Order: sequence, then C-alpha cells, then structure tokens
Amino acid sequence: MPKRSIGLVAHDNKKDDLVEWAEFNKGTLSLHALYATGNTGERIIDKTGLKIALLKGGPYGGDMELGALIANDKLDYLIFFWDPLQTQPHDVDVKALLRIAVLYNVPTACNRATADLIISSPLFHSAEYKLEKERRRG
Ligand code: PGA
Repeated sequence: MPKRSIGLVAHDNKKDDLVEWAEFNKGTLSLHALYATGNTGERIIDKTGLKIALLKGGPYGGDMELGALIANDKLDYLIFFWDPLQTQPHDVDVKALLRIAVLYNVPTACNRATADLIISSPLFHSAEYKLEKERRRG
C-alpha cells in the first residue's frame, strides 16, 4: 500500500471534531505521513499518540507551510476543518492554502462528511490515482 502524506488542520471551534475524526481513523492514519499545524497537531497527538510532523501554529505561518508542501508535491491530502462562523486573523493564509490545494488538485476535506468520504474511498490508497495526479502536473 503506497504511503500517503496528509495535512491536518482545524480552527479552534473545529478542533474537537478533527481530534475525534483522527481518533476514529487512527489505524489508517498511522500508516501514512502526517503533518499538522501546531495546536491542531498537539491536540491530536495528546489524544491518539499518532506520529505527526508539527508545523508552526496556523496564524504564525503553519497554513503557509502546508501550502508550501503542496506546491512542492509533498502533500497528497488536506483535511482542513475551517470555521465558517468565525473570522480568522490569518484569513488570507486560509484562502491561500485553499487556493493552492485546488490549483494542485489535492483532495481537500473541509468538513467531516468529506473527510469520511476521502479516507474510505477506494482511490485513497490507489497507486494509479497517484500516478495520474503526477502525470497531470507534468
Ligand atoms: P493551529 O492552527 O492548529 O496552530 O491552531 C490552525 C489554524 O488556525 O489555521
């Protein structure tokens, strides 16, 4: 099974949701390379013990670090539970991350229903899918 790299980030009001999702999917997530913004990652590690590469806190550049991973073809999936009910000080970074994820055709889950669909999709582990993605990037 090809190893995937997965970015995890949640705004404060959505962190409980993402921690719960990560706990539920711990078995699958443990097979892959995980990256997370600082506080999100610490919360997930505390609850699950998963091994996660911690980036900076979101408002301190963590979202941009995730964007840089995408631009360098180092992130296959983005699980980003952003908060639709609260403005963020780093809104421009949030927009930039979502923009770059779309640009590079990175499957992106902005809520739990989509995260469930991504992680349970037969394409999630598919080698052909990864190759196809690489081909399209040229
Ligand atoms: P955090 O960042 O995980 O460091 O809280 C998330 C965000 O607000 O982008």
